[in-house]
Formats: sequence, structure tokens, C-alpha cells
Amino acid sequence: MNHVMQTYARLPLTLVRGKGSYVVDDNGKQYLDFVAGIAVNTLGHAHPMMVEALHQQAQEMLHCSNLYHIPKQIELAGKLAELSGLDEAFFCNSGAEANEAAIKISRKYFYDAGSNRRTIISATNSFHGRLLSTLTATGQDKVKVGFDPLPTGFKHVPLNDLSALRHVMDSETAAVLLEPLQGEGGVNLAAPEYLQAVRKLCDEQGVLLILDEVQTGIGRTGAMFAFEHAGIRADVITLAKGLGGGLPIGVLLASAKVASAFSAGTHGSTFGGNPLSCTAALTVLQVIKDENILKNVQARSEQLCQGLTKLIQRFDCLTALRGQGLLLGLLCSHEVAPVVDACRHHGLLVLSAGTHVLRMLPPLNVSESEVAQALIFFEKSLNEVST
Ligand SMILES: *Cc1c(COP(=O)(O)O)cnc(C)c1O
Repeated sequence: MNHVMQTYARLPLTLVRGKGSYVVDDNGKQYLDFVAGIAVNTLGHAHPMMVEALHQQAQEMLHCSNLYHIPKQIELAGKLAELSGLDEAFFCNSGAEANEAAIKISRKYFYDAGSNRRTIISATNSFHGRLLSTLTATGQDKVKVGFDPLPTGFKHVPLNDLSALRHVMDSETAAVLLEPLQGEGGVNLAAPEYLQAVRKLCDEQGVLLILDEVQTGIGRTGAMFAFEHAGIRADVITLAKGLGGGLPIGVLLASAKVASAFSAGTHGSTFGGNPLSCTAALTVLQVIKDENILKNVQARSEQLCQGLTKLIQRFDCLTALRGQGLLLGLLCSHEVAPVVDACRHHGLLVLSAGTHVLRMLPPLNVSESEVAQALIFFEKSLNEVST
């Protein structure tokens, strides 16, 4: 008997190691990894710089608690502040925790100001995590069933519908929480004009804007952060998945004005921002810079989109291509599970986003020949499921 709780519908596959964009199963079979641990393995597997940096850090110190100053954490906070234009970082261990912190800091900010703004407005089809607060913020009923009573103070509006947002925003609204590009909910892009209008509305009403960049942040969309495509600034940003390149780390970034709501004793995390996770994140940022990885994301995205667009023209079951950078979704007329299975048999790992969207999230340093290879595997798989 397997004693692991079955919270995931696990595929019949056991992965034991990886190198670059490839992973190997327990039978020695190799796969091109276009899942990358769900947008986590930013630099692929076993990047030499990552291996070396973690080895070094493990010899020095893994953990020492936030009771003390942690040099790598200070360095990482500085780099993230510089990159994001925000001022201060709170470190935790996952996306859900980062969003929980974002919800808490928004409420506390207004509490401190003597205001009764407490409500968080998020989008339908959003995904913000599995904690009670973040599954309540999530705009999908399926994650909530059986977990009531849920916390109060959450509302939902359709994405890209400004009048719906204007309609629900009131004197109790604390923050608007959005993914610039919805990942789990089906690869749905928040239009740049929508994000700009939301920013303006938030400014007019004195409401905070929180961007959940847990999946889109750290280069995934071809910019360091997805909000850059819309040319806006958020008051709060959350990051996790790709930041540590495989080590668990989450972060809440906030403007100085909002950050002041979290004073000593108001929030915390035992593991958050430990030396090892911060070393991993610093290495990810360094390699993104040194290897010009944002350029690669743009070029590989273009290559992959061109190839996928051709396949959409050839296969009736594929109806549309969505997404940005290397967070791409193919809309299918039937359920995508058989395509995911066929791809795996042909040596390509892909995943779904909902039932009808097939998602591709390769490592950000994926090569031109690997993308070409993935397109060949994908075409073979489509041929198989279409006949
Ligand atoms: C994955 C994800 C989360 C949750 O992250 P965990 O690390 O699994 O808690 C939150 N928001 C977005 C946008 C995500 O993609």
C-alpha cells in the first residue's frame, strides 16, 4: 500500500533525475520536460551554477531562524526590490502563503489607518492557493467544496470586465487581487488595458492592487514580471513557483507604505527566507541575467507559438493558442487528458489547465533544438489521438 495521501491524481510515472530540459524515469526512459514542476524549474534540472551554489551554502548553513539577520535574505530582498520597484519583502515558503500574507497585510494596512476596508476582490477562474483564505479568494468552486465555513470578506468578478469590478467595489474594499495571466484557471490573459484601468480605479478609490505573480513572475512571460507588459505598478506582488528554481520559497513584495503594516509580531514564518532557499533564488536571478534568459524566453516562445499555430491549422481538435512567453495554453475541443497521455508516451511531458486547455511550461533556458523536438513529439501525439 502507498501511504501517501492521494491529493493528486498521479500519472503512472516516477521521475528519478533530470538534466537541463530532460528528466528520466525509473526505467531509464527520457522525457522532454515541458511541465518544469509546474513552472518551478526555471533553469531546468541540475543547472551547474545551482548545484554549486547549494552545495556551498549547505556546507555553511541551512537554517538559523528569522530571530537573526540572514545575509542571503537581505541580498535577495534588495535584488527583488530593485527588479520590482517595490520596497520590502516578506519571505515564506509557497504561493499560498505569499497570498495569505498579501491578504493579511492589506487588511492590516487599512486597520492601522482606522478604515473599515477589509474585502478582497478577485477574478473568476483565478487560482490563489489551497489555504482557507486563498481557496476562498480563488474564483473556482471546485477547490472550496467541503471546506466550509470559509472566511468572509471575499468577492469575485469576471476577468477583463471593468464595469463588473466598478460595480462591486465599495467603501469596504481593501484590495483587488489578480493574476496578470491566469495559469491554473485556463491560461487567460488579463488585457493590458484592463490592468491599466484597474490600476486607475484602485488609485481613485484608495484600494490596493495585489498582483499574484506566483506562476508568471521571474521571467516566465518573457519579462521579469508579467505586470511589465501592461506598464503598471502594483502595491503588493506575490511570487513563489519559479523564484527558487526548485527549492520552496515564496515572497510578498510591498511598497513601503503597505509594508509598514507588518511590524514585529504581526506575521511570521519559521522557514521563510532561510539561507538555502534564498541562495537558490539568488542563483536563479543571477543566471537569468548572465545567460540572457529573458531574451531566450521571447525567442523560444515565438518559435513554439509558430509551431503550435501550424498544428492548430492542421488539427481540428485544437482551436486556439493563448498565453505569453513560456506559459502557453492550447484550447482543445475535447478533454486534453488523452493528449497529455499520448505526449508522455512519445517522450514529452505537458500538463492541463482545467479540462480543455493543454499547458506548456518548459524551463526558461530551453534550447531551440529542444523546442523543435517537442513540436515533433507533440505532432506525433496529435496524430495518434486524432485517428
Ligand atoms: C501555484 C499557484 C499558487 C499556489 O502556490 P503554492 O506554492 O502551491 O501554494 C498561487 N497562485 C498562483 C497564480 C499559482 O499558480
